[in-house]
Amino acid sequence: MNISSVYYPAKEFVRFLTTGNSGFKNYDITNRCNLQCDFCYIYNQPDNFEFDEVTDEKFIEFFHSEKKNNVHTAILTGGEPALRINLIKAADKIFPVVFIFSNGLIKIDSSIRRRIFISLDGPKEIHNKMRGCNCFERIIDNITDDRRVIVTTLLNSENYPYITDLYEVLKTKGISGLTFSMHTSEEYYDPAVLRGAKLDRALTMMDYLRKKDPSFVLVSKEMIKQFKEKNHIPNCMLRKGYIISHKSDLSVKSPCVFGKNIDCRTCGCSSPVILHSLKKLDIETFRIISRFYYREKSPAFREYS
Ligand code: SF4
Ligand code: SF4
Repeated sequence: MNISSVYYPAKEFVRFLTTGNSGFKNYDITNRCNLQCDFCYIYNQPDNFEFDEVTDEKFIEFFHSEKKNNVHTAILTGGEPALRINLIKAADKIFPVVFIFSNGLIKIDSSIRRRIFISLDGPKEIHNKMRGCNCFERIIDNITDDRRVIVTTLLNSENYPYITDLYEVLKTKGISGLTFSMHTSEEYYDPAVLRGAKLDRALTMMDYLRKKDPSFVLVSKEMIKQFKEKNHIPNCMLRKGYIISHKSDLSVKSPCVFGKNIDCRTCGCSSPVILHSLKKLDIETFRIISRFYYREKSPAFREYS
């Protein structure tokens, strides 16, 4: 385990618990995407995309003011953030830590030495069906031998049986790992939300993979427990302001990145699950988080840490 990569998130977490300032912020740097997935929380809520993005110049100015206000970790989301590579490059220069969440269709320039989370929903047929595109192989080409990449799989009632198939595809691709989130919906009765026996089956498979390949499958026993028991929902630290989200017009999106119409009762987002597990001082979750940090070597990180 890389000690500095454990030290950094642990230090930041303690800072939050003692001062209330997390230093994490989420920026939807664009409301546009090169896909249009049925389940997208951007496209399913007009409030999340029916507005004009601010220019690169204005966004970069905002990044600088955020850094001055002690934001050290920028989580870049969209839409598809790779559509605004200028903003990724700017964030790379400004923030000590940058996480990028992408659908993987555009390969992010290799000069950006940051952690990139790529969405893949299952093996080829499943991913292509769920995303409505013939794009799986292109994404695999883009991520192969890219150690910046951790694949994040959003599980729902359709793709959960294919967890192990996806793992078998990914484990030989030279990426840094595989982690999971669960479908979160605007509708409480959305059949895509994993519940009951299906949820139990998904979590059993996740736990099987966690035990089989703990250096690649980045989920802790405590996280699996939270996905099941949902204690992260009443205790959600995002709703309490731990990570504030901004839209690409720079306004604040609440209660979290999903936007105002989300039904928290369906929440399977890994962020509050991880934070709740960390709050319980779960060592295995700290290990997982340490893996989420890329080997930060940027001047911005060295200056900060
Ligand atoms: S790739 Fe992501 S942002 Fe783009 S449409 Fe699909 S879910 Fe939405
Ligand atoms: S949907 Fe958002 S605000 Fe609600 S519990 Fe999940 S992360 Fe928290």
